[in-house]
Amino acid sequence: MDGLIENFPPDPTMPGHTFTGWWTQGGRQVTASTIINAFNLGMPSPMPNTITLHARWRLDNPTIRTPEPNQVVPHDDLVVSWTSFAGISYEVELLRQNPAGSPYLPPEEQVFRSTAIGSSFTIGRDQLAFGHSYRVRVHAISGTRRSVSDVEFRVETLDPPKRIAISSGHGLYVAGASGFMDEVTEARAVTDQVARFLRSVGVPVSVFHDNTSTSQNENLNTIINWHNNQERDVDVSIHFNSFYDPLSNGTETLYRTNNDDMRALAQKISGKISQESGLRLRGDQGAVPRNNLRFLNETNIDQAVYPEICFVSNQSDVELYRKHFMGICAAIAEAIGGRPIPRNLINEAPIIRTMSMPNGILQQVYQYPLQVSSDTPVTWSIVPNEGELPSGLFLEPNTGIILGGIIDAGSGSNEHN
Ligand SMILES: [Zn+2]
Repeated sequence: MDGLIENFPPDPTMPGHTFTGWWTQGGRQVTASTIINAFNLGMPSPMPNTITLHARWRLDNPTIRTPEPNQVVPHDDLVVSWTSFAGISYEVELLRQNPAGSPYLPPEEQVFRSTAIGSSFTIGRDQLAFGHSYRVRVHAISGTRRSVSDVEFRVETLDPPKRIAISSGHGLYVAGASGFMDEVTEARAVTDQVARFLRSVGVPVSVFHDNTSTSQNENLNTIINWHNNQERDVDVSIHFNSFYDPLSNGTETLYRTNNDDMRALAQKISGKISQESGLRLRGDQGAVPRNNLRFLNETNIDQAVYPEICFVSNQSDVELYRKHFMGICAAIAEAIGGRPIPRNLINEAPIIRTMSMPNGILQQVYQYPLQVSSDTPVTWSIVPNEGELPSGLFLEPNTGIILGGIIDAGSGSNEHN
């Protein structure tokens, strides 16, 4: 008797795998529209009333997160990372590319292949040679299924990074411009995100927000004094523009008149911001000289820039800024730090939704899950030198759960990587 299967099962899912169909024990594929008879299923006649279907899977190629394709990396330890799934094991293989056309050497040679735990693996700098190109290959292994992904990169020695001192304009009690958004709030957000990007690529950075001054004069003194007390190579003060004409728009970076080095840096900052966001370039390719700004005149290494990101008084500027916030911050970090910011940090950067956490009770178990908006799995860590958890608590890297017993009073701040 011919017919369709009643209660045809829905497609199952398995992390890291793609479902490719239902198959009979006899090796015939069955879909909801397959006419069921002994001939189609390769089964003896008469047919039984129930048949067992087996799901078939393809193991997805692993998604390598770092390094990026064709990235130039410093001659240092290199973190290879990928999106990992439970039930799948991973191996990392490093292949060194040999010079093209060499009669003595194969095109590439294996440096090592090693089992990896979790979703990252650190290749020690002793395995990587300056000036060479490599291919890193991540193997995913699930039962008898295997799949691989490759990324090629090149190892170069980079100049030592510049040390950055960055502060937000105005202060908690000293208002800046306001319009479709508030300058002080946004300058703080940009400053913090630029600092995160800089840290993520190994650029030393110190950060300041003025939370105490109550007058404009005190505010400028406080900010300039803070900068002059930092060990740094570049001073950066983040601002937003405003004008009574709501049509005024665009991005510009101010520098001290006649300081040619800083004009070049100002053009680089504004140029990258404009490229990332579509904000219009103002001034001389984004650079605007000023001889009457205390920040530019009184920071005592004379290496100061003053980005005016966009106009808070222009609605489309504000929309571009909001849409391209991460790209704009990465543009500033790249321009002042001289290090490329990996695209995956910009595109996939998760947003932490947990803004505060409940207090714990002394001597009791504390457990609180941090919330994050992200399309992909995240790992959590405490940013070094930006606070720590109270003793007795720890952060579970894969779940974002803060767990432990409160054995001491204290407060903590935390961020994702
Ligand atoms: Zn300002």
